[in-house]
Amino acid sequence: MIKKIILCFLIIMLTMFVFLSCGRKAHDVEAAMASLSTDELAVDVEILSSDDFEGRFPASRGEEKTIAFLKEEFEKVGLKPGSGDSFFQEVPLVEITAIPKTDLVITGGENPLEFAYEDDFVGVTLRVQEKVTVADSDMIFVGYGIVAPEYQWNDYDGIDVKGKTVVMLVNDPGFATEDPELFNGRAMTYYGRWTYKYEEAARHGAACAVIIHENAPAAYGWGVVRNGWTGPNFSLITEDGNASRCAVESWITLETTRTIFEAAGKNYDELKKSAEKPGFKAVPLGLKANLILENRIRNGVSRNVIGLLPGSTRADEYIIYTAHWDHFGKNPDLEGDKIFNGALDNATGTAALIELAEAFQQLGSPPQRSILFLAVTAEEQGLLGSDYYATNPIYPLTKTVAVINMDSLNIYGRMKDIRIIGYGQSELDDYVKAYAEEVRRIVLPNPTPEKGSFFRSDHFPFAKQGVPALNAGSGVQHLEKGEKWGLEQIENYIREKYHKPSDEFDPDWDLSGALEDMHMYFKIGYRLSMESTFPNWKEGSEFKLKRDADMQNR
Ligand SMILES: [Zn+2]
Repeated sequence: MIKKIILCFLIIMLTMFVFLSCGRKAHDVEAAMASLSTDELAVDVEILSSDDFEGRFPASRGEEKTIAFLKEEFEKVGLKPGSGDSFFQEVPLVEITAIPKTDLVITGGENPLEFAYEDDFVGVTLRVQEKVTVADSDMIFVGYGIVAPEYQWNDYDGIDVKGKTVVMLVNDPGFATEDPELFNGRAMTYYGRWTYKYEEAARHGAACAVIIHENAPAAYGWGVVRNGWTGPNFSLITEDGNASRCAVESWITLETTRTIFEAAGKNYDELKKSAEKPGFKAVPLGLKANLILENRIRNGVSRNVIGLLPGSTRADEYIIYTAHWDHFGKNPDLEGDKIFNGALDNATGTAALIELAEAFQQLGSPPQRSILFLAVTAEEQGLLGSDYYATNPIYPLTKTVAVINMDSLNIYGRMKDIRIIGYGQSELDDYVKAYAEEVRRIVLPNPTPEKGSFFRSDHFPFAKQGVPALNAGSGVQHLEKGEKWGLEQIENYIREKYHKPSDEFDPDWDLSGALEDMHMYFKIGYRLSMESTFPNWKEGSEFKLKRDADMQNR
């Protein structure tokens, strides 16, 4: 008997020894991952999306509650303040509401043309100015309005558009032609995104930048443009009060476009075709645009919340987890429920940020590189909080290894597939694939890359500054109920709850898939934090040139 006990004891000691020596790191990681739980995630989501948080609108009382909660949670799990001695990075915002004084008036044709605000066109100015006037501004069709050195493409080649009105197509030539050799084929590149087109027009000094709306290449109808562009618009404020932006940023309907091109004696369809071909030259329309906008201006300050877990040996290199804490607040004009709780979008990602921070603290020893947990503001207003951080970084971007973004976790249960939005862009894809292989999941591209989803969450402002950024999560292949069912859930959500007051927490959510995705976020972040490599953008990505240049000059 004594012998048996001694033998048992020896076996236990031996096992512990093996664990403590060679298996210790792996054991730490497993233990840290085991601390992630769906129960704790649900508790945080419920709090963040409660009516008490008033829909988490930037620069409102809902913000105060939200960021106080996040600070408290970050402190509780042992994170250090990530912005000097504070957990907050102030994000100066301006809210501008345009009140159009006139219709859009086009002169220079046989008769002046007048177009009605909202029905025929929308236009805003993001200059912090009470009034902007566009008068007798020469109109010029600049095709897609793209300057893309990596594709040897320049729609502004040989023309001067200073003070002029540029009219351009939405999306990019790859989408229009479906030619895989042009740009990124059907998948939208950043050059196809409207934000890019306004930025490029401003770089060339155009007074007014007009995008032609068409349903297919825009991926949404005129109603979406009209709702998004009328009423208040938020923006960041630069030192010059956004004076470097175009005076007016505008969209026109296809019908308006046809009327304008006819008055100019041009065939819209033919010009559009010619704009799809390399070597296209901009075409003056011989017409002049006139528009006056008056603004109501309100300044405000919102905050990003930042917690830091310092690394052990390479503390000056960073992995950043991001999730936007904001949502749409409330609308007193609504019947019934007035609060946009934003439970899925994005209380889930924000709660995951807290959970991941806690898991990293469970590691026996801290990771080698530092980890930042960054809850950003005003994503719903145009990725403003993440854009502010990416353009006013607290830690150098050349020392920022990667960004892992979480926006709306999976509430439908375990899925076989992991979808990468922006598949093929960066070497971070390979980290996802390695993880997927380990747990026998599969990695697939986002099924609709032409909709430009890659440019519509908080990883993107980092990508734009060259930092490799990942946006990946569960797909639709439900382990028990299949793909059709999975797809239906997503479609139902978009139809019934997306950006509506009905996006509320439900205790019946199946968070088992979200838990698996959190394991993935943890594992990938952990692996990056223990390596010395800097993953890059893949060849052909529109973000690679910037990263290469920055890393060379650092
Ligand atoms: Zn959203």
